[in-house]
Amino acid sequence: MLEKLYQRIEATREDLIALTRDLIAIPTLNPPGENYAAICDYLDNRLTRAGFETTWVRAQDALGDSERYPRWNLIARHEGGRPGPCVHFNSHTDVVEVGQGWTRDPFNADIEGDRIYGRGACDMKGGLAASIIAAEAFIAEHPGYAGSIEISGTADEESGGYGGVAYLAEQGWFAPDRVQHVIIPEPLNKDRICLGHRGGWWAEIETKGEIAHGSMPFLGDCAVRHMGAVLHAFEETLFPAMASRWTEMPVVPEGARQSTMNINSIHGGQSEQAADDTGLPAHCVPDSCRIVIDRRFLMEEPIEAVRQEVIDLLDDLKARRDNFDYEIREINRVIPSMTDKAAPIVSTVHEAIRDVLGQAPTYVASPGSYDQKHIDRIGKLKNCIAYGPGVLELAHKPDEWIGVTDMLDSAKVMGRSLESLLLP
Ligand SMILES: [Zn+2]
Repeated sequence: MLEKLYQRIEATREDLIALTRDLIAIPTLNPPGENYAAICDYLDNRLTRAGFETTWVRAQDALGDSERYPRWNLIARHEGGRPGPCVHFNSHTDVVEVGQGWTRDPFNADIEGDRIYGRGACDMKGGLAASIIAAEAFIAEHPGYAGSIEISGTADEESGGYGGVAYLAEQGWFAPDRVQHVIIPEPLNKDRICLGHRGGWWAEIETKGEIAHGSMPFLGDCAVRHMGAVLHAFEETLFPAMASRWTEMPVVPEGARQSTMNINSIHGGQSEQAADDTGLPAHCVPDSCRIVIDRRFLMEEPIEAVRQEVIDLLDDLKARRDNFDYEIREINRVIPSMTDKAAPIVSTVHEAIRDVLGQAPTYVASPGSYDQKHIDRIGKLKNCIAYGPGVLELAHKPDEWIGVTDMLDSAKVMGRSLESLLLP
C-alpha cells in the first residue's frame, strides 16, 4: 500500500515541476504584498480540481492590508467522508525582495538538472507544491479516508504574518476543535523536523540632545555621543551576558543556540542626502539619535526579563552620565514556540522520514520565527511543526533554488504521514 503511494508521487515529477514553476512565476513580493489574489486564484483552480472546497479570506484592516495591496488568503478543505482528524498544511505565499547578485531571472523558474531556480523556490513555494502533490496523491490512492485535509496559502509571513496566519487564527481557523495536526512546509531540509523557534523583541531607542551650531558643540548636547555610550554599554555588558546563555532548544545553526541581538539601524542628526542633492551638510549638533534593536531570545528567558535588561542598562546610564535621557518604544514581540517531541505530529512525521529516507530525522528549532507562533499563541494549537524540502541557508539569497528530488521525497513523507493519521 505504501509503495503504491510512493510510486504515485514519483509519477507526478513533471506535474510537480510545472506546478512549482507556475507558483514561482507569480511574483508575490512582500513588501508591499503583490499578487496575493493571483496566487490564491491559481491555488483555488488547482485544488478545486482535486476536490477541495475553497474559502477566500481577506485580512481586512490587518497590518499591511489596503485596497491597493489586499491581504488575500486561501483555505482549501477536502473531506474524506468518514469521521477523523483534520491535517492542515500551511504555506505562506509571499516572497522577499529579489535583492542583488542574481545570475538568472528570479521569476522565470529556470530548470537546470534537478534544480528549479527563482525567488521563493525554496522559501517556500517548493514546500507548498510538495504538500499539494502529497495531498492529491493520498486522496487518489485512498478515497473515502477518515478525516479531512486542509491546505492554506497565506499572506505576509515574511512581514510578521498579521495579514495571514495571525488573522486566520483570530478568526478561529486554527482552533483545536477544527484542526488537529499542522505541518508548515518551510525549507528546513527533508530529513529534519523543526519543533519551533526562538522569540523576538524589537524596539526603538532614542537618545536626546540639544541642537546648536557645529562649530560650538559645547553650546548643545550631541545625541549621537549619548548613543555611543549606549552602544558601549551593550558591548561591555549586554552582549557578554547574552553570549553566556544557552538554550535546551535544538536551534540551528549552532551560533543561534544562545541569545543574540542585531542592531538593525542607526540614525542621528541630519538625514542622509539624496543622490541628486549636491549641497553640503549644514553644521548642527544632532538633538536626536535612534537605533532599532532586534533581540532574539530563548524559551528559558521570560520576555519581561529581556525587556527589563535593556531598560536597566539605559537607566544605569541615566544615573551616571550627564544630561543622558532616552525614550524606548516597543515595535513588536514574538514569544518562543516549542512543540513537545512527544506530540503526535512529531512522532508521525518521524516515522514517515524513517520510512522514506531510511534514517531517523534530526530535531531542530529555527533561529528566526515563522507562523507557528500564531498557531500556538492565538490558535492554541500545540500539535504543529515545520517540515519541508529545501536548504534553509538558501532562503532569501540570490539564485535561490529547490531540488525536485527533495520535493518528491518530502511529498512522500507528507503522504506517508497522511496515511498514518487518516487511515485508522
Ligand atoms: Zn518562509
